Amino acid sequence: MTSPSEHGRSDGPDTTSTTFEDLGLGPELLRALEESGYRHPTPIQSQAIPVVLMGRDVLGCAQTGTGKTASFTLPMIEILAAGRAKARMPRSLILAPTRELAAQVADNFDKYGKYHPLKKALIIGGESMSDQVALLDRGVDVLIATPGRLLDMFERGRILLNDVKVLVIDEADRMLDMGFIPDVERIVGLLPKIRQTLFFSATMGPEIRRLADAFLMNPKEISVSQGGSTAATVVQAMAVVEEIDKRETLRHLIRIEEVKNAFIFCNRKRDVDVLYRSLKKHGFDVVQLHGDMVQSARGETLEKFKKGEVRLMVCSDVAARGIDISAVSHVFNFDVPIHAEDYIHRIGRTGRAGMAGHAFTIATPDDGKFVVAIEKLIGNAIPRIEVEGVPALELDMTARKGRGGRGADKGGRGERPARGEKRERKPRENAPQETLPEEAVAVDTAAEAPAPRPERSERPARAERPSRSRADNRQDNRADSRPDNRSREGRGREERGGRRRGRIDELGIGEMLHPDGVIGFGDHPPDFILAAVPLPTRSAARAGADEAAESED
Ligand code: AMP
Repeated sequence: MTSPSEHGRSDGPDTTSTTFEDLGLGPELLRALEESGYRHPTPIQSQAIPVVLMGRDVLGCAQTGTGKTASFTLPMIEILAAGRAKARMPRSLILAPTRELAAQVADNFDKYGKYHPLKKALIIGGESMSDQVALLDRGVDVLIATPGRLLDMFERGRILLNDVKVLVIDEADRMLDMGFIPDVERIVGLLPKIRQTLFFSATMGPEIRRLADAFLMNPKEISVSQGGSTAATVVQAMAVVEEIDKRETLRHLIRIEEVKNAFIFCNRKRDVDVLYRSLKKHGFDVVQLHGDMVQSARGETLEKFKKGEVRLMVCSDVAARGIDISAVSHVFNFDVPIHAEDYIHRIGRTGRAGMAGHAFTIATPDDGKFVVAIEKLIGNAIPRIEVEGVPALELDMTARKGRGGRGADKGGRGERPARGEKRERKPRENAPQETLPEEAVAVDTAAEAPAPRPERSERPARAERPSRSRADNRQDNRADSRPDNRSREGRGREERGGRRRGRIDELGIGEMLHPDGVIGFGDHPPDFILAAVPLPTRSAARAGADEAAESED
């Protein structure tokens, strides 16, 4: 397990003199910490723990890898040690955006709480609801949940939230990205007003600030991402190639690099699966992780990768977010991330524990604008490399590319070369050779605190949403936080209708098509209607809408 103390990050343990004992933690916790091998608190721990023990709210700006999970689990265990839980009435609640993150928080409670008789429950989608209900019925001190499943439980009357004394909102910025904020707001509205709230986010854009203002009372602000000069370095490089050359480029890079283990990121779930199968076919040692997989398969995959039983993991951002695996030698961005800050999260998976990390990005010319945004955010140009046998291209700064990876640009599809047909090559001038280290930029992933994110309305659409359990499905449209009274289903229908119309508008016949797909001209159909016009059938229009919906998932 990564231990910040091993790599001396400034956001790692406060090795000066502070001990966990100084922070006011009791003997049981100190024993558990000693057994974990942690001698000194990290900066966020030494700042947050005493404040949480005092009962104050905390607004923490910290990324994964800083020890932030222990900064709230440790004092919570101490606080909850006194008192007993009643059936269905958890005493504390931790909201996490993904199942993996929720599971990691639960592991922390197990690790540090082993000498406390606290009961906990993990309420996440994709797992048996009856088991979770049984746990709740017995009464839990700590409830760790993803928002969708928690609301589902609440609506079924399986849980009461009026005894929650401590609320943690973890990775708030990711909640925002994933469209969970309306659900989080709803959940917070169900909690007692008098409570302690701990709110963590890797970035503090205006929308996150607004939420913090709404949820917290006179919080102590703690930030460990700014000014952190860290030893964690990642050597980066980028190959700009034709879309159809991307897999070949990736295979080549994996072969020539000394890849001990690697995350390979795709922007969309379905591309994760396609790439996984392609790599498998080429004989690579690979697994995949994305939000459409059942929870048990996700868990098994992660375990295999963590144990080093498999070398490569193709994954999506959501699935891989916050996964705490030390010593990952490489990150490959098979797609350029659409949100620049995701680039930092992705490459931050490597270069941990003082080891050299390597991050390769495979771009196509159409990714120009995304690459510019990333380079602006990290404050460096990512050195370009050429890959043997694959023509190197230039980025096209005028290209308009939609979300997603391969062929995601719906508007531009017609302009793209068909499979097998290559676009006219625009070779790079003075393209450097494939040798990296001399020119590669070492980026301090922790120090590069992402700039505040733009407000949602300014942001490009989400690249990926979490997987859809039945509970999660209800959360459709959550990006729209308008407090209107329409049902979710109603809004979903409207949105689907809108997508269908959008698709049909592309065909230039939007005005005539009724929302239900029927064209009506009374008894006087014009001549052209009687001719063989390639109008989309209802099912084709539906398929178009489904495709659009899928690309958002
Ligand atoms: P987190 O930021 O919570 O994801 O933690 C990152 C990693 O640091 C995890 O593997 C923790 O187990 C580890 N860790 C947390 N606190 C300490 C500490 N005080 N000393 C060493 N390692 C720690």
